[in-house]
Amino acid sequence: MPCIFCQIIEGKAPAEIIFRDEQVTAFHDAHPIAPVHLLVVPNLHITSLNDFETRYKSLVGHMINVAQRLANDHGVRQSGYRLVFNTGPDAGQSVFHLHLHILGGRALPFHFR
Ligand code: 5GP
Ligand code: ZN
Repeated sequence: MPCIFCQIIEGKAPAEIIFRDEQVTAFHDAHPIAPVHLLVVPNLHITSLNDFETRYKSLVGHMINVAQRLANDHGVRQSGYRLVFNTGPDAGQSVFHLHLHILGGRALPFHFR
């Protein structure tokens, strides 16, 4: 199975792309769980945070920098937002291409039962 995020980055699958540079692509989540639900994805296929390596430090820093700017552009800088890297089964990771969720636009629950 080809990676859906690689396909989006390569323009082979549709997405509402909101930002792109040489390092990352950002687009709206197809199944938003908050009024603002964006994804920042490295253009390089990295499976998850478990595959993080020291050489990716500036890339991941750039992802956070882009997320901060997108949060501002989508009006949640002041109201607040959450950045999430789901990693592995217990976190519910479903796409195995590293991605940073930006969630905001409503109060976000943070409960564990
Ligand atoms: P995960 O659960 O792996 O942290 O998050 C994957 C996210 O990618 C989910 O929120 C899901 O809705 C989103 N997603 C999965 N497939 C697609 C797609 O083809 N296009 C877009 N825009 N989002 C997707
Ligand atoms: Zn990929």
